[in-house]
Amino acid sequence: MREVHVDAIIFAVENLFIDANINLSQNVIDAIKGAIDKEESATGKEVLRELIRNAEIAKEERLPVCQDTGLAITFVEIGQDVHIIGGNLSDAVSEGVKKGYEKGYLRKSCCHPFTRKNTGDNTPPIMHTKIVPGNTLKIIAMPKGGGSENYGEVRMLTPSQGREGVKAFILEMIKKGGPNPCPPIIVGVGIGGNLETSAVLSKEALMAPLGVRNSDPELAILETELLDEINRIGIGPQGYGGTVTALDVHIRMLPCHIASLPVAVNIQCHAHRIKEVIL
Ligand code: SF4
Repeated sequence: MREVHVDAIIFAVENLFIDANINLSQNVIDAIKGAIDKEESATGKEVLRELIRNAEIAKEERLPVCQDTGLAITFVEIGQDVHIIGGNLSDAVSEGVKKGYEKGYLRKSCCHPFTRKNTGDNTPPIMHTKIVPGNTLKIIAMPKGGGSENYGEVRMLTPSQGREGVKAFILEMIKKGGPNPCPPIIVGVGIGGNLETSAVLSKEALMAPLGVRNSDPELAILETELLDEINRIGIGPQGYGGTVTALDVHIRMLPCHIASLPVAVNIQCHAHRIKEVIL
């Protein structure tokens, strides 16, 4: 049994959220750069260049890539041979978020749903945990803005709607979002499981590296088809029209009930901020 002290978790979470908000990962920057050649609209190309410049300025001046520094979403994979000491995991992740948003001068965006009163420190974080084999603790930080999150949805389709019903739902959601999720977007899709697991799958799908196709050949084809059809809608970078509305589509799928076909869409904006650490 390997011991991991909560102080290490707090420190890691604090730094992950600061790093994620300031330094867009190279994978995202490369995808936006690659999109400049694919974009047919002159305005769209210019917007993509501006997004690259924005990411460079954020890095140089240690400023957030976007003013919406998001809700603090975390995925924690806990090795079954890890023993957390000095406190509990939830409090440690929460403390790390609180410290990171304070130290990094990141906007606190978490509030009471009705009164809209800000919680003041961007807690509580959203925390997804998984017990996995091994003796390490993997923490993924994904600050996510409201503009893109607002255009996600779960829908319980009927089994007869099948593959075409799933595609129609996803395209409907992209059209509904239009320019609001700050395109070029990344589309996470969760198919199967049940109501709540399809939503989590769609968020997990967003964690896949851009440009990497699904290992399941059928899903890889579906991802490619959807990316192509989304980019033919014409929303374009930041909604000015164009051929690059999405940088990528990623799908995750699980078996589901014989009477159901759950599908969830989670849209991510161009400020796709995600960082991870293994303790
Ligand atoms: S959708 Fe993304 S880029 Fe747009 S304001 Fe929100 S966090 Fe920023």
